Amino acid sequence: MFICQGFGATAATEKLGPFSFERRDTGPTDVRIDIRYCGVCHSDLHQARNEWHNTIDPCVPGHEIVGQVAEVGDKVTRFAVGDLVGVGCMVDSCRECASCKQGLEQYCEVGFVGTYNGPDKHSGGMTFGGYSRAVVVDEAFVLKVPKNLDLAAVAPLLCAGITTYSPLRHWKVGPGQRVGIVGLGGLGHMGVKFARAFGAEVVLFTTSASKVDDGLRLGAHKVVLSRDPDAMAKEVGSFDFILDAVAAQHDINEYLGLLKTDGTLVQVGAPEEPLPVAVFSLIMKRRNFAGSLIGGIAETQEMLDFCGEHNITSDIEMIRMDEIETAYARMLRSDVKYRFVIDMETLAS
Ligand SMILES: [Zn+2]
Ligand SMILES: [Zn+2]
Repeated sequence: MFICQGFGATAATEKLGPFSFERRDTGPTDVRIDIRYCGVCHSDLHQARNEWHNTIDPCVPGHEIVGQVAEVGDKVTRFAVGDLVGVGCMVDSCRECASCKQGLEQYCEVGFVGTYNGPDKHSGGMTFGGYSRAVVVDEAFVLKVPKNLDLAAVAPLLCAGITTYSPLRHWKVGPGQRVGIVGLGGLGHMGVKFARAFGAEVVLFTTSASKVDDGLRLGAHKVVLSRDPDAMAKEVGSFDFILDAVAAQHDINEYLGLLKTDGTLVQVGAPEEPLPVAVFSLIMKRRNFAGSLIGGIAETQEMLDFCGEHNITSDIEMIRMDEIETAYARMLRSDVKYRFVIDMETLAS
């Protein structure tokens, strides 16, 4: 065991602050990573505040981790000291169920081990995440980071990136298709970049007129203000696929109505309350309404390699570790372009 410095919450009602804890020593198949940057995901805030009612304190959030390999176990074959690597939302799974065998560890039938607040197989306690100096992870859940990309801007790919890449790939979005992305935040801005890179015609839907220029800059062919009924009416029945990244309550039926026959709307934003679906909006054109959770390890690696080849990263705002509470407050107001990333050098020693 070694003592690892981190930043976490000791209770749902407490602000995050410096918190030291024990991590396991590097086992035979483990990689010990010195963390350089960690992205800030909405889930971090939900978990730290116990808004999903499953947090076991203390909680050290962070599952958009990038850094450098500091030590490898003697059975590690894919990594060497000094490699640039990433860790996303999972650090383990059962590895034996049908989902795991298909490379869909995120749908592990036993449940994957979350990078934080997950049941740690080694310590018997809970896992601690990336708001910390270092992390020890089995090599099967460590990803290689392309060297040509800005490392800090790679961090959000590990959650926001794969969450949008995976459904766009699964539903085979590509040339000749009209694709809608709903919401321009951490997820949505990656959805726009990937859908464009896959060759689709991309339309961004946003409530905010101030995001029109950014939407076009990020790769959308067209931006529609979703609060303009006339503009929305023009889009009815014209989409092959829609990726909905909005985590707030909104009228999903309005977007289902934009799909062509057999079109699919995939929800990746997660509103706290149920979204009422008018079944007729599905029945009349055999439309599909689906969900999707991050991506498997192999697909996450494929996504990082794709980003390396196409020079895709997240648009980020770098913060110091002690600015995290301000960052959370701004994130709640959607006042971030488009992901906060913590410079882990600023974790006070
Ligand atoms: Zn996340
Ligand atoms: Zn499994």
